[in-house]
This record gives sequence, structure tokens and C-alpha cells, in this order.
Amino acid sequence: MALIQDGWFREVNKFWPGQCMSLKVEKILFHEKSEFQDVLIFKSTDHGNVLVLDGVIQCTERDEFSYQEMITHVPLCSHPNPENVLVIGGGDGGVVREILKHDCVKTVTQCEIDGLVIDMCKKYLPKMACQYDNPKLTQHVGDGFKFMKEHPNSFDVIITDSSDPEGPAEALFEKPYYELMKKALKPNGIICSQGECLWLHLKLIKNMKDFCESVFPRVGYSYTTIPTYPSGQIGFILCSLNENTDFKEPERVLSEDEVEKMNLRYYNSAIHRSSFVLPEFARKVLEK
Ligand code: SAM
Repeated sequence: MALIQDGWFREVNKFWPGQCMSLKVEKILFHEKSEFQDVLIFKSTDHGNVLVLDGVIQCTERDEFSYQEMITHVPLCSHPNPENVLVIGGGDGGVVREILKHDCVKTVTQCEIDGLVIDMCKKYLPKMACQYDNPKLTQHVGDGFKFMKEHPNSFDVIITDSSDPEGPAEALFEKPYYELMKKALKPNGIICSQGECLWLHLKLIKNMKDFCESVFPRVGYSYTTIPTYPSGQIGFILCSLNENTDFKEPERVLSEDEVEKMNLRYYNSAIHRSSFVLPEFARKVLEK
């Protein structure tokens, strides 16, 4: 298998030229091509089980919480009362798990393009796919772009937990998708999307932020640290229909007891606020 040599998985990709993350493989658990992508799951020596799509690491059991908690709780805590939440992608189940920690949420809808990813994550990533039987969840297997067109005025929060903009997720990084999400939101709704890496994709992020500002009255960029994503950092584009939204100040502040009860390991209200503070090289491009 070309991705694995001498017992090491290597994440070589043109989106991060001249560098790559390597993880030591203990055992290959699953490898098959679906209709949409190459799906690999392996047990690593030190990072638990790892999901890889088209050669790109999607999550490891060791550090997934930092991404799943931030892409979920930053938008959910920015909304006063999120009741109906939509997830596009997110086949590993981690975002669904985090959304259902909010008691105010009445329904979660998920639209994931690849049924094979859902099935294999249930089997090999059960700590992430642990809420797939929850009665509040409705799952659709299909394209998120198409789904968005068919559901106007339906959701308080939309989270796009997609893979990178090559392959099935390409259209999810473009302006027409954001225009559709705007229509799919209820009044004062909020969206949050996987927003790539400041160290590697600043031009792409700038382009996304610019077109978001032409669609929504409020836009923000937040980020988290995560060792197994390229360059150890990944961001989130947030947009609100409510012009009074101040993303840097959570609408719902979590007490220490709530953080404990929700079993949070990365997110708290202080990190919510600080996640919008950008290093100078990025601030110059994204905020000036
Ligand atoms: N956290 C991950 C990351 O940034 O690397 C993403 C994880 S999640 C597994 C990404 C999911 O998006 C995949 O399961 C993929 O099948 C799904 N996906 C990609 N394009 C999609 C589309 N157009 N509609 C719905 N789901 C899509």
C-alpha cells in the first residue's frame, strides 16, 4: 500500500508541499474505495484508531476532541437557543456527539455523502460514532450541496464538517454553497465551517472570508490547535444572520460545572473568546 511504507503512514499531499505528518501503524483495520473516495482506517501505535480519506487524516482517537468540540461549541454557544442543528459531512460522528451535549437541542440532522464512512466509523471509531442511535438524530446519505437546496428556513445552526476542497467537498468551499446555507437558516441562524489552516491556506481563507462578508452581516474566524492536522492548526469560518452577534463573546457562557458535566476537554468559554485572536501575520490579511 503506497500510503504506508516501512510501517509508517505518510500524509503526502500537494496542499501542504514539502512537509507531511507520519503516524506509526500497528494494524490496518479497513481499506476500500467507496463510490466517492479511498477509505482507510488503521490502528496506530500511539494515537488510537485513525480515519484517512483520499490519503488525508480526518481524525485520530487521541486528539479529535479539540476539533470536534471547537467546530461545535463555538457556534452553538454563539446562539441563544439552538434547537434544530444540521451537520454536513462529519461521517465519523464526533460533531453529532458534541451537539447532543446541549440539552436545548431538539433535533440533529446529518447529511454525509459516504455511507461507507458512517458504517466503518460505527465499527472502528465507536467513541466518536457513539450517538448514532440517538432518537434526536436523523441521518441522510447524500450530497450536502443538494440537501441544502431542498431545506430552506429549517435550522438554527449549520455545521459543515467536511474534508478538504478537492474531491466530494469541493463545492462546500464556494460562495453558492454559502448562499444556500443562508437560505436554509432560520432567523438569527449561525453557520460554522471547517476553515483550513492559517499557516498553509491564508489566501483561500481570505477569499472565503471576503465572499462570506458579501453574504452575511457578521463573519468571524476562530481556530484550534491539533497535532495531527497539517501544521497543527485548523480554523473555522463563522457567519451569523444577526448583525448584533459578537462571536468573540459567547451568548451562552458555560459554568465550570457545565464544562465538567459535558465532559469537555478543550472547549471552555475563555478559549472560545481567545480562539478569535489572530497572530499578526494572519490578522494583517484577514482583519485589515
Ligand atoms: N475533521 C475532518 C477534517 O477536517 O479533516 C473532517 C472529518 S469528516 C470525516 C469529513 C466528511 O465530509 C467525510 O466523511 C466526507 O465523506 C464528507 N463529505 C465530503 N464531501 C461531502 C459533501 N459534498 N456532502 C456531504 N458530506 C461530504
